[in-house]
Amino acid sequence: MIPYGRQSIDEEDIQSIIDVLNSTMLTQGPKIAEFESALCDETDADSAVCLNSGTSALHIACLAAGVGNGDEVITSPITFVASANCAVYCGAKPVFADIDPNTYNILPEEIEKKITRHTKAIIPVDFAGQSCDMDTIRQIVNTAEKKYGHKIYIIEDACHALGSIYKNKKVGSCAFSDMTVMSFHPVKHITTGEGGVVLTNDEGLIKKLRLLRSHGITSDPCEFVNRDLAFRPDTSGSGSTVNPWYYEQIALGYNYRITDIQCALGLSQLKKLARFRKRRREIVNQYNAAFKDSKFIQIPFEDNSCDSNFHLYVLLFDFEKINIDQAGFMLELQQKGIQTQVHYIPVHLQPFYSKHFGTNLGDCPNAEQYYKHCLSIPLFPTLKDSEIEYIVEIVKSFFQ
Ligand SMILES: *Cc1c(COP(=O)(O)O)cnc(C)c1O
Repeated sequence: MIPYGRQSIDEEDIQSIIDVLNSTMLTQGPKIAEFESALCDETDADSAVCLNSGTSALHIACLAAGVGNGDEVITSPITFVASANCAVYCGAKPVFADIDPNTYNILPEEIEKKITRHTKAIIPVDFAGQSCDMDTIRQIVNTAEKKYGHKIYIIEDACHALGSIYKNKKVGSCAFSDMTVMSFHPVKHITTGEGGVVLTNDEGLIKKLRLLRSHGITSDPCEFVNRDLAFRPDTSGSGSTVNPWYYEQIALGYNYRITDIQCALGLSQLKKLARFRKRRREIVNQYNAAFKDSKFIQIPFEDNSCDSNFHLYVLLFDFEKINIDQAGFMLELQQKGIQTQVHYIPVHLQPFYSKHFGTNLGDCPNAEQYYKHCLSIPLFPTLKDSEIEYIVEIVKSFFQ
């Protein structure tokens, strides 16, 4: 079976993990800061906080933004549920803004319509690797901040977009967002098994994120509240020194830490990002050339403001015009050893959201229309030319 996405692991990756296993620190060691620094170099962000998943990253990004009870958070319906769940974790109400039928990304105009005085954050999702229209979203948010007199955070969900470029800036640079979140799940561009990161250029946010990652505990003497417990008089009589065992919990945090084992793998994987990116583009070009002239297939639209590092290759099929439906087509391909996937079931149609937030069919017509036609076909760096040819041949055989 050819999966729709898969990790690419080589001997160097394996060795990097073995090296950590042979070292003294499996977690809370040096590899974490090293990986964070490498991610900053890669994305041009000032700071990075690595976590045990992209979902944890979204959760603490919302918390750091102060998202809480009574707040609203606007996101796309065409995303993985985690982009909306993170708002619910914080007690906020998720609000879905419809997508652009060309890019499948959240529409800035729809965001503008949905912003209210309760809006605390926007979570635009760079779907399949193509950046949202972040510049326009930033302007809309700036205007809304003036109108309502409070900050509205932009948390870019770039779980699909490591290695993409938007308006000559790297996705992750936070040029238009307050924080950018990425995931290192095995289907994403690089993997740590499970893992994620929050990138930001805001020092205040970075402090909060680090605290939330690890139980709300700090070892920074400047932040200690109970000075008498924290310090003892210096034996020389000048000033005081920190008690050697001392730490303080100053907020409610979590154990969302990533391990050194994972970060070593991430560092090794990051070195290959450019190569992965090149190969993904080659495959996309081959698919585009093969499908662009088909009357029944819509290839991905590429906005010229973005150079996408394709995470997914999504085709829209005109099932009404041919003799097979979406499920039948998916099953036929599966029979022939080709795994495809629907990215995604619109989140506002999930029973949890309907039940708790009253979302319904009809809320986001573009997303619902897209959902009926989409199918992601295999795309990952180790996909062989012979497999690409096979996939093209099989897919095309249904659309003569
Ligand atoms: C993968 C993904 C996430 C969640 O990341 P995990 O690392 O799996 O927790 C969130 N948002 C989007 C758009 C994703 O694709």
